[in-house]
This record gives sequence, C-alpha cells and structure tokens, in this order.
Amino acid sequence: MAHEHDHDHDHEHDDEHNDPLADEQAVEEARAEAEADARRRLALAQIRQYPDSALRLVAHEVTEFDDDLRRLVERMIALMHDAKGIGLAATQVGVLRRLFVFEPDDGGPRAIVNPTVVERAKETENDEEGCLSLQGVRVPVDRVKNLTLEGKDENGVDVRLELDVQASRVAQHEIDHLDGVLIIDRTDDEHRKEALATLRPRVVLR
Ligand SMILES: [Zn+2]
Repeated sequence: MAHEHDHDHDHEHDDEHNDPLADEQAVEEARAEAEADARRRLALAQIRQYPDSALRLVAHEVTEFDDDLRRLVERMIALMHDAKGIGLAATQVGVLRRLFVFEPDDGGPRAIVNPTVVERAKETENDEEGCLSLQGVRVPVDRVKNLTLEGKDENGVDVRLELDVQASRVAQHEIDHLDGVLIIDRTDDEHRKEALATLRPRVVLR
C-alpha cells in the first residue's frame, strides 16, 4: 500500500546566500532527497506493476519457515521502505506465497505469514487507498474498521494482532493482494473507470 505523496516542496529561500554553512546544508538536503527519489524509483522497478499477471494470481500457504523465507521478508521490508509504502504483499514481488509486511504499530516492520482474519468489527469505513503496484491511482475503498489477525512470523512463531483502524485497512489491502484482488476491484464504477484511464498505456498516434 502506498502513502500519499506531496511533491510540492518549496525550495525558495528569501534569505541572502551569505551563509556558507546554510548553503552546504541545503546542498546536503537536496542530495539526500535526490538519493531517496532514486531509491524509490529503483524499488518501484522491482515491484510488479499493473497489469502484470502476477498481481491476479492467488498465493499459496507457506509450509517451510527457512532462510529462503527470511531473506524474502528482509527484501520485502527493504523494498517497502525504499518505495515509501506502508505495506507490501509477496505477490507484488512475483512470489506466490501467503505473506505480507507492514508496520502495524510503533514496534517496527513485521511480516505476517499465512494471515487469517479471526475477528472483524461490523463497522466499515470508506477512505482513499493507493497501491505500490498501481502508480498514480488513489481510490476510495470500504474496509472493516478493526480486525484481529492471526498467522506466523518468518520464524514460524504464532502471531496474533489486534489492529487499529489504519493497520486493519493495510492488512485487508495486503490480504486482497494474496488473493489476486486489487483496489480497482473494490472501488465504485466511477473511480474504477478513472483509475483504468490513468493506468492505460498512452497510445501515440502519428
Ligand atoms: Zn497494493
């Protein structure tokens, strides 16, 4: 799942450029920003983009909790961070295994393997969602407000999480990915049409 991006950075400074330290700092900031941008583009290039067929496939239960799985989790967490996302499912990197990574609380990123929703609130909420596999798309999606998730971590240890509203939304989005379901399937007709128009490759006629 993707954050909202605000590219309206204002880099105009009214103060005079007679402070070499401030200049150095501005150069350093610009360099850091350019690096983060480059890392984000590199990460997005490694994440399957719509209409990649892997995004429509159903992932399989994980049975082996081995080094291979732990390396996959490490890679997915790094990609999620670099892409500035808030969740990433294995199908988005072309791996058909039931796991996703997210940051459900202040405890840092974690992986949920073979996630199952064991309790869900009756109440739903409509809010905008983006997706690292659907660049430039934001659509409103109805989600259950709170849920309890069970599964395992990358070492095969049982996990049970009672999620807040934000984390519940991310979990539902990522579990959808494991079933080949995307936000454009969950939104209303009008927003779906708009989203598909954004995603359609431009045909240039000469
Ligand atoms: Zn997504």
